[in-house]
Amino acid sequence: MAMKEVLEDLRKIVGDGRVSTSMLERYCYSQDASCVRGMPDFVVRPENAEQISEILRLCNKKGIPATPRGAGSGLAGGAVPVKGGIVLDMSGMNHIIEIDIGNLQVIVEPGVVQERLNQALKPLGFFFPPDPGSSAFCTLGGMISCNSSGMRSVKYGTTRAYVLDLEVVLADGSVIHTGSKVLKSSAGYDITRLFTGAEGTLGIITAAGLKVVPLPQARRLVAASFEDAEAAGRAVVDVFSRGITPSACEIMDKTTLEVLRRCNPAVALPESGDLVLFEVDGTNLSVDEAAREVGEACAPVASSVRIAQSQEEMDSIWAGRRLVGAAVSRLDPTKTRVYAGEDVGVPIREIPSLINKVQKISEDLGIAAMKYGHIGDGNLHVALFIDLMNREEWERLDLAADRIHRAALELGGTVSSEHGIGLARAGYMPAQAGAALEVMRSIKSSLDPKGILNPGKLGL
Ligand SMILES: Cc1cc2nc3c(=O)[nH]c(=O)nc-3n(C[C@H](O)[C@H](O)[C@H](O)COP(=O)(O)OP(=O)(O)OC[C@H]3O[C@@H](n4cnc5c(N)ncnc54)[C@H](O)[C@@H]3O)c2cc1C
Repeated sequence: MAMKEVLEDLRKIVGDGRVSTSMLERYCYSQDASCVRGMPDFVVRPENAEQISEILRLCNKKGIPATPRGAGSGLAGGAVPVKGGIVLDMSGMNHIIEIDIGNLQVIVEPGVVQERLNQALKPLGFFFPPDPGSSAFCTLGGMISCNSSGMRSVKYGTTRAYVLDLEVVLADGSVIHTGSKVLKSSAGYDITRLFTGAEGTLGIITAAGLKVVPLPQARRLVAASFEDAEAAGRAVVDVFSRGITPSACEIMDKTTLEVLRRCNPAVALPESGDLVLFEVDGTNLSVDEAAREVGEACAPVASSVRIAQSQEEMDSIWAGRRLVGAAVSRLDPTKTRVYAGEDVGVPIREIPSLINKVQKISEDLGIAAMKYGHIGDGNLHVALFIDLMNREEWERLDLAADRIHRAALELGGTVSSEHGIGLARAGYMPAQAGAALEVMRSIKSSLDPKGILNPGKLGL
């Protein structure tokens, strides 16, 4: 690649101040929140779809890799340019273009941060439900590209359920719309869903039409403790069997609770057992009824059940749950959490088996593990800890992550429920997708024959 020539071309497209080749800046873009690393040759901050179209035309002509990046909070290396080339920093395209409540939707640029959209919607009595733990900093473009979700997906679904239309720049520089403003359509292939979850391998999203929904009038929270994961799993299935779909259904195992208490002794969580938090939302009347039913479903198998009595109590319990990410450092000050095997998912009835298998893997390999996650949709987050300076511990960690991924697959599950495949989990795609991987490869080669878009990802 004639670097000087490419630099000149990029400057002509976006202007001098929006291209960088400085070592320091390229280093900052060589990683996301995972362990994957890869140095870009150029960092480019485009302002609009026209510039991106010109950049991709240039990349396509010269065979230069182009990797889109939102906030870089991904946990699988999706935004890391593992084959070099250009990183397209989309975070500056961050305008909320239109809030169209009459049509139950918004149109946004991809760099809008999730929480900012919800701040704008709140006074209007609406919200965009997908709610990752990273909502304060992750972008909607990143969320669409990973089909992100979080605590509310058990009732409200993942990001995919809210995408109505995408403006996408394809590898050859052409610009398409995948949908429209209608809330449903049965016109041909569902290309919107093809680009949702594609992790930037099929096109660059430059705008999105997203469905929004009314904020619920009220919420209630039931906290139930169980002797073990089997009992917790039985209670969750019983809650669903009664026709109740909680708006959140989270599990934290004994180790997680112990670590939370060490982090903040005032945290308002029960003293023992595995804890499940059930949140229900709806009208003032319906939530009281639903919370009572959840309590009744849990009572026969739980060691304790408590319905939060006030908004303050509810907030303080959720504050404890939100502390998990930060509290992990208290497990052992000499160890650090490494994101590996952290996002497996199984059919919900298999969650207790998965928790037990992960516990056994952790004991067999001597790697400490915290287990928490979205039990209501079968998604278990596993936090593994090692001494980063110890090579032998890294080897055991890799083995543990591999066994966790394979355990999920054996139980009919997935190696990633919401964080994506990127490079970190690419090796599992043949086992995960089977013959469908060839279909994915042919879609990729038909839309991006030169393989310039985020190469090296998804095991393609
Ligand atoms: C503390 C923490 C908590 C988290 N909690 C959750 C959680 O609860 N649920 C969850 O689902 N995830 C969670 N995540 C993971 C991560 O935040 C999400 O995957 C998020 O959606 C990524 O957004 P981003 O803007 O950081 O994207 P990036 O990491 O920058 O990119 C992610 C992928 O999207 C692609 N991409 C970005 N923008 C575009 C675009 N405009 N067009 C095409 N492709 C694009 C990138 O190439 C990459 O493949 C968490 C991460 C952290 C660090």
